Amino acid sequence: RFITFEGPDGAGKTSVLNALIPIIEKHVAMPVRLTREPGGAEISEKIRSLILDPANTAMDARTEALLYAASRRQHLVEVIDPALAAGDMVICDRFVDSSVAYQGGGRQIGEAAVLAMNQFATDGQAPELTLYLDIESAAGLARIKAHRQSRQYDRLDQESLTFHQRVRAAYLRLAQAEPTRIKTIDASQALPQVVADCTQVLAAHLGP
Ligand code: C5P
Ligand code: MG
Repeated sequence: RFITFEGPDGAGKTSVLNALIPIIEKHVAMPVRLTREPGGAEISEKIRSLILDPANTAMDARTEALLYAASRRQHLVEVIDPALAAGDMVICDRFVDSSVAYQGGGRQIGEAAVLAMNQFATDGQAPELTLYLDIESAAGLARIKAHRQSRQYDRLDQESLTFHQRVRAAYLRLAQAEPTRIKTIDASQALPQVVADCTQVLAAHLGP
């Protein structure tokens, strides 16, 4: 069982996942493996630090997209696939949809092209369910500013409101195109309500 969480910056994915994992563990009779891209695969981490290094101002948008896909590939074969093969439930913080939204939408290199490249990278491995934590861009950015001290500065922090609005628009298009896989959660609500909404969606998907 493979489930992903998605959302723009400031949606609160990390806090929601921390609260949700114990709830999911109680619900399912299998080990639950929480991971995040680039999540514990050394090569993936190295690629990721290259992408996010604020010094790499010359990085081309397609280079960035290729590096994300490469990092994802390594995380998939080293972490996700072995866990699934062992019978674990895998919950992943970000996957292909993030690249379609950030690189395809945000960087404007084309959502279909980014998706095709990632289909090569994943060889068709895809989540059965995706919870998309939706928040209006300005509200998400305001949350990030409020928690600035607890977050590491990265290259993405230089991006404009319009960049983040393009990311969200791409996410909303994905959710509309794949309503069976992608369930949209209103992440502007207070944390306990977001967690409750996620729990309801997961319970409906996983069954009793
Ligand atoms: O998920 P998290 O907030 O930790 O992501 C770290 C940074 O990487 C964020 O600024 C996010 O916007 C960015 N990112 C990106 N493209 C992706 C995945 C994440 O620009 N495909
Ligand atoms: Mg985060």
